[in-house]
Amino acid sequence: MGLIVKGGEVVTAAERFFADVRIDGGTITDLGAKLDPRTGDETLDASGHLVLPGFVDPHVHMELPFMGTVSADDFETGTASGIAGGTTTIIDFCIQTPGQPLTSAITQWHAKSAKAVGDYSYHMAITDFGPNTPNEMREVVQKHGITSFKVFMAYKGALMVDDGQLYQVMKTAAEIGAVVTVHAENGDAVFHLQRELLAAGNTGPEYHPVSRPSTVEGEATERALMMARLHGATAYIVHMTCKESMHALERAKLSGQHCYGETCPQYLLLDDSVFTKPDFGGSAYVMSPPIRPRGVGHHEALWAGIQNGLLDSVGTDHCPFTHAQKLAGQGDFTKIPNGAAGVEDRLQLLYTYGVQAGHISLERMVELGATAPARIFGLTGKGSVAVGKDADLVLYSPEGKSTRSAKTHHSRADRSIFEGFEVQGRVAKTIVNGRVAYDGQQLMVTRGSGRFITRKPSHFAAGVKA
Ligand SMILES: [Zn+2]
Repeated sequence: MGLIVKGGEVVTAAERFFADVRIDGGTITDLGAKLDPRTGDETLDASGHLVLPGFVDPHVHMELPFMGTVSADDFETGTASGIAGGTTTIIDFCIQTPGQPLTSAITQWHAKSAKAVGDYSYHMAITDFGPNTPNEMREVVQKHGITSFKVFMAYKGALMVDDGQLYQVMKTAAEIGAVVTVHAENGDAVFHLQRELLAAGNTGPEYHPVSRPSTVEGEATERALMMARLHGATAYIVHMTCKESMHALERAKLSGQHCYGETCPQYLLLDDSVFTKPDFGGSAYVMSPPIRPRGVGHHEALWAGIQNGLLDSVGTDHCPFTHAQKLAGQGDFTKIPNGAAGVEDRLQLLYTYGVQAGHISLERMVELGATAPARIFGLTGKGSVAVGKDADLVLYSPEGKSTRSAKTHHSRADRSIFEGFEVQGRVAKTIVNGRVAYDGQQLMVTRGSGRFITRKPSHFAAGVKA
């Protein structure tokens, strides 16, 4: 028994066309102007709707142990929140505790993610490079189907790698055809800026952005890309926020280097005035890198990158903490858990503030939010509406306005950094693995129905070397 999605306008990264979509057993099996139902087929009326591929969020952190607490969404609530917002696949970060074998961290993450309701993969974060790490990295790619790594150039004393470790990760990744995702901020500079601010009595959340100026992001982005270039590794810079890092990415791309850049809606849509909200309200927005000031070219550089292709994808860095959790940093902004919710907001925000505002086409929106993340990270069944792809679809109604709010989102986060943002249109239905998992009102998901998607390395050392 199949399902036919009838009468909608299909949008891919390349084109838009009216077509029916036939689904059999979790796979798209036909696209055509008028598909006739076979006996037993169900039909779903999609007239007046855009039929988009299920969005792929390449950057989330579900139940992440971080800064003395654990991020508020687990794999069940986090993937459910994604599905309500049109995101059907996530890539989380499996994070090695320093000294821990990489495969042991993967076992831990598999135990947590077994309750996911949408499909998922991980980037493998390396926080400690030892003599056996090259062999372990090879095993992660070849035996575990995880083909991307992560390094943090920030969070000194916790997750941060030094330049020697960065060098070795890039070298090994180039050899095994893996992508290296990079959190690019100069962690040593941030460490000293934080100490100086605290010593001067500057302890509130409004000093968080002061401790992490755009120069420290620009410097680290440049260094990460140079280190990748040295070995011909493929680097993917996550959550880019500023003109300095965009310039570094532009330089690398113009020199023929094989690299990618990602930003997130909060860096496009918010500015640093959020940090001064009363009653410790600014803490909700504390994340790293920080949200940037307006009027100095950061937002313009990011929007230009979204429009002209310098940026490759839009993720969310979904990593929510409740207000109670954020209170750990009262009197010391460096102790505010870093992160906010976003996995459910991305599609509506991109549609409203990207497409409706005239910055990008629908096709480009699909590319940034689904097709490119799937392609870059080797999720070959995801990211497009085409025969043979997984039957993950979003039926988006362009009609009507609503506002984003923590009161109505499905995340456990008790605040939304997009509270009150007006959005155009809505996710009317989300189809996951061939079944309606969200009908615009209600989630219809089964705990544990999400699947771990293994990937194959899709990259080789094609870039310029040294
Ligand atoms: Zn992150």
